[in-house]
This record gives sequence, structure tokens and C-alpha cells, in this order.
Amino acid sequence: MKKDVKGSPAGRVVTRFAPSPTGYFHAGSYRTALFSCIYARQHGGSFILRIEDTDKERSKKEYEKNIVDSLEWMGLSYDAFYRQSERTEIYRRYIQRLIDSGHAYVSKEAGGKEGGREEVIRFRNPGRTVAFDDLIRGHIEFDTAELGDFVIAKSMDEPVFHLVVVVDDREMGITHIIRGEDHISNTPRQILIYEALGATPPAYAHIPLLLAADRSKLSKRNGAKPVTAYRDEGYLPEAVVNYMALLGWHPADDREVVPFGDIVKEFSLERVQKSGAIFDEEKLAWFNRQYLQRLDDGAFLAGARPFMPASIAEDAAVRLVPLLREKARCYADAARLLAPGGELGFAAALPAYDPEMLLWKKAPDKAAAAAHLAAVKAALEAVPAAGFSADAVKAAVWPYAEAKGRGDVLWPFRIALTGQERSPDPFASAAVLGKEETMARIRAAIAQLG
Ligand code: GLU
Repeated sequence: MKKDVKGSPAGRVVTRFAPSPTGYFHAGSYRTALFSCIYARQHGGSFILRIEDTDKERSKKEYEKNIVDSLEWMGLSYDAFYRQSERTEIYRRYIQRLIDSGHAYVSKEAGGKEGGREEVIRFRNPGRTVAFDDLIRGHIEFDTAELGDFVIAKSMDEPVFHLVVVVDDREMGITHIIRGEDHISNTPRQILIYEALGATPPAYAHIPLLLAADRSKLSKRNGAKPVTAYRDEGYLPEAVVNYMALLGWHPADDREVVPFGDIVKEFSLERVQKSGAIFDEEKLAWFNRQYLQRLDDGAFLAGARPFMPASIAEDAAVRLVPLLREKARCYADAARLLAPGGELGFAAALPAYDPEMLLWKKAPDKAAAAAHLAAVKAALEAVPAAGFSADAVKAAVWPYAEAKGRGDVLWPFRIALTGQERSPDPFASAAVLGKEETMARIRAAIAQLG
């Protein structure tokens, strides 16, 4: 339930995440949202989502939806939701108030459409030094004189960024502004507006940027994917959240896999590092594997099932779990492994293969290969279908393979089952296929050799 949290009872923490819906939501923005949300939860406060869509040209509903979907997938719930495009009346009131108190004025300027004059509303900058104590970066001072009388609205109904941020943060009772350090240079202007309104600015915490592998700021241009791309690849949201929380912050010890509840307990802005953190896809995949390993078989299967080809029957899907667990970094890997040509593609369908492939390179003899396959088949008859595990298959076939030569026996056995050079060992492959299919494939291989 989303409730309005206008104003903040003394001492209560209220944070916000204020994205502009001008692009797909990627890790850089996500981490800002995460830190703001964690901080609010940790203090029993509120977390607000505010869509900053005053730039009509660049803001798109599609991007807003992507932000909302991403937060939902990652389990970051907010207590209130606002859209700046619906708050024009409020901003108008504040602009009027600033004009009335002499802190802002209407300025007629050249450069309007068709060479005419246009009106803008400028803030009357007292031009003094502004200081604040950032919770991450410490004491910061700016000389605001060079900023001049900056624009706060293009008209009474078109306020611009600095004004709307301050009005909303004030109206919504924000106590802590946690945002990217690219906003540090905006802070002095915003503090001046607070002062003009006779209000005290909230606390600021500017978090270091997320960087791409080449240390440039993470952005769409250097390959930052939308957060929803990880959802679509079948990453576990808990793993993604855990990884991202550790970008720029870490617990007092060197634990890496930290459940969200513990992160909320242990997080502190004071421990957020000042330098940029590198977003590393490989490391994210490592985290996801850690979380996949912790799932029981049932939960793993439930997550992986939608990514498996439809031709895989339920019992085969169950039998695939150990192999998928061993090889998959995310659920979409299950789709890749099981696709034709993938390492486990044989489980979905036996590929057509050249009978020559059945011949062990050190003893390329058709009759011998057929005889070994017949012996393997005979040994497997004794293994019950219900207990057709990799261990049981191995126990049945191993003595014969030892006696006749492992390569001579196991090579044609594996190719008969998988038809592919790259595939798991024949015991694991047989267990995945089940007894009936294993026997059918061995029979077909023997027929091909005849
Ligand atoms: N809307 C701004 C952005 O997307 C954030 C403003 C703020 O956090 O103060 O960069």
C-alpha cells in the first residue's frame, strides 16, 4: 500500500530516489535507489519514488515503466510515488512566493522563438560561499558568485530542475538526499533556494559513480544494460541486489554473500568509499552462481524450467538439475546449454551424427564398437528404470570398460547417447536421458554401425 508521507515527524528518516525517465534503468541508477532505500529501511523511515519528468521532450512513459518494473523485480518497495509532471501547481506557488519575496524575478531576454524576447524566471543569487557537510565526502564549500542569477523556471508553468528538486524535497519532508556525486555541483544552487525559502536543507550523501571496466562513468554508451536485462537472463534478484550493495560499500568483515536483511542492518553511509566502483559482469555472474548453489533442487528447477526447451519432459527436467547447477551461471544459460549444439543439447533431441563418430580414434573398428555397445546395453538391462542414476549406470558398465579399455567402450557409449563431441560423461548423460531413451539410443547406434 502506498501512502502519502508528506512532512516528516521529527527524527524520522525520509529518503527518495528521483530518476529522470529519459533512458532505461541501469545499474548506476539502481545502486542510488538501493542505497536510499536501505538507509530508510535501516532507520525505520520512508522511501519515496519520485519521477522527475519535467523535461517533456526526453521523458518517456516507457522508461518510467522500466524504472518501476526494475524496482519491483529487485524487491525495492517504496512508500509513496510522485510524478513531477502532475505537480505544476505546487511549483507555480513556490515560484510566485520567491518572486514576491524578492528572491526571484522575471527576466525578459533575447533569444525567444522567432527572434523575439522570451521571459524566464531567474533566482537572485546573493553570490556568497555555500558550505555543507556531505555524509560521504565531508566538508564541501563553493563560491556561488560565478553561478550568476540562474534560471529556476522557463515560465510560471515550466520550472526547471533545481527548483523542482528543492520544492519536492521540502514538500515531501526528505531528510537525507542520497544521490550520485555528479549532483555535487548542483547542491550549492539548491541550498541557496532552501535559504531563500527560509528552510533548512536536508543532509546530503553523494555516492561515488559506478564505472565501466575502462573506468569511464557507467552509461548506456559503454554497455550498461537495463536492470531488466538481468531479469530476462534469469538472474536472481537477491544476487543482483547483494552484488550492487557491495559496489562502494562493504560490511566490516570480508563477507561477500550477505543477505539483504543483514545489509540493511549493517549498512552505513560512513563506510561508503569515496572513489568510483567498477561494475563487473563477471563478478555479478559469480554472485548469481553463489545464490543458485544455495537453492534446493525444487527451487532451482522452478526457476530454470521456463528457460528450458518445451521438448524436455518434466522427469527429464528433474534429472537435468545436477548438470545445470554445475554449469549454469544464470537460468538463461540453461536455454543455451540445452539448445541444439549446446553442451546439453542432446537432452532435448539427439542430433543426427555421422556413424564414423562412434569409432574410438585409437581403435576405429565398427564391429568392435558395435560389440561394446551391445555389451553395455546388456549390462544396463539389469539397472532398474527407477534407479537409473549416474552412479548406478557407472557401477553396471565400469567393470566391462575396465576389462576392454575405457576409451574403446565409453567413447561409443557417450556418442551413442549424445551424438556430440562435447557432452558430459556417458553416466551423467544416461541418467539425464532415463533408461528407456538410453536403451533406444544405444540400439539406434548399433544399427548405424551394422
Ligand atoms: N533527476 C535527477 C537524475 O535523474 C536526480 C535528482 C536528484 O537526485 O536530486 O539524475
